[in-house]
This record gives sequence, C-alpha cells and structure tokens, in this order.
Amino acid sequence: MRTAPGERLEVLVRAQDIQSRVQLLGQHITQDYENKELILIGILKGSFVFIADLARAIDLPLAVDFMAVSSYGMSTKSSGVVRIIKDLDESVEGKHVLVVEDIVDTGLTLNYIYSHLKSRGATSVKICTLLDKVSRRQIAVPVHYKGFEIPDAFVVGYGLDVEERYRNLADVCQVVQS
Ligand code: 5GP
Repeated sequence: MRTAPGERLEVLVRAQDIQSRVQLLGQHITQDYENKELILIGILKGSFVFIADLARAIDLPLAVDFMAVSSYGMSTKSSGVVRIIKDLDESVEGKHVLVVEDIVDTGLTLNYIYSHLKSRGATSVKICTLLDKVSRRQIAVPVHYKGFEIPDAFVVGYGLDVEERYRNLADVCQVVQS
C-alpha cells in the first residue's frame, strides 16, 4: 500500500495468520455461548474489520452493536481520558455481552467500558481483543479471548489507523520512519 513520505510498513501479523486465528476464536466463542443470548459490541472505529470477520466465524444467532469512546485522538499516546462518543442502540440488560476490541494497550479504555457495561445489567461481560500489548498494561482488565500478543510498537492495519490511514490493510503492520 502507498505510504506517506518518510514512512514504511513492516508486517507484524500476516493476513493469513489473522484469518486462521479469527476462525479459531470464532469456534471457541461458538462453544462457550451455545444457548445464550449473545451480543457482540464493537468498539469503533478500530474494531470494524475484526468484528466483521469474527461475527461470521461464530456459528450462533447473535446481535451486533457498537460504541465509540475517545482514546488517542490524533496522537499516538493514551490520554487516559475515556469519554463515550457513541452509546449503544439497544439495552444489554439480561444479555451475554462480548466486547470486541482491536487492541488492548494500557487497558484504560477497556477498563472503563467493562465497568460501564456491567453497571447496565448485562448477565455477563467478556472481552475479545485481536491484539494485546501486555507489556504496556497500566490497569488489569480481564481479556477472555485474544488473537495475538504483540510487542510495544505502534501498529496499523486490519482496522487500526494512524490519523485515519491504513485501516484497510489486510495485515497488521508497524509504521517505521525511513
Ligand atoms: P488503551 O486504553 O488500552 O491504552 O488503548 C486502547 C485504544 O488505543 C485502542 O482501542 C486503540 O484505539 C488505541 N491504540 C492502542 N495501541 C494502538 C496501536 O498500536 N495502534 C493504533 N492504531 N491504535 C492503538
């Protein structure tokens, strides 16, 4: 893909590895949520590609909803301030909620979302993330389903952006200044 001047992309997780991992996650989730009323909640915008693939890898009836919260804005560092920009369309009361996130970094965003959804009367709240930067964690969050652990690097692709670019990459890549 065409990059901005002075930028180069290095593949960290290949598209085909993402696809097989997502299929496996889908199989685990299918087993775990058999006969339960499941709702997938995608955290916008970064999770839009992951949730589209994951939903199709789950062989159960399910609902899909989205939330958007503020995270990094136009910077690449977490501000620690979490604010709801778009709330859910439907109530989660009495439902089994699976939060679908692109990446867990400090954990601040998911920690907020997790407590928020629990306080809304969901029967259960679990977290599924494609990527986990475990070494960056500032607050413990229960990650129930995980695609890949990655090192402390800023990544793009498969939904993740830098200033809105690269969301449509099939691989997860590191942006390197060249
Ligand atoms: P946390 O609150 O865990 O620090 O940050 C979570 C959010 O920060 C993610 O949902 C994502 O929007 C953003 N983020 C964290 N690390 C990265 C990264 O390496 N690349 C991109 N594009 N966004 C990231």
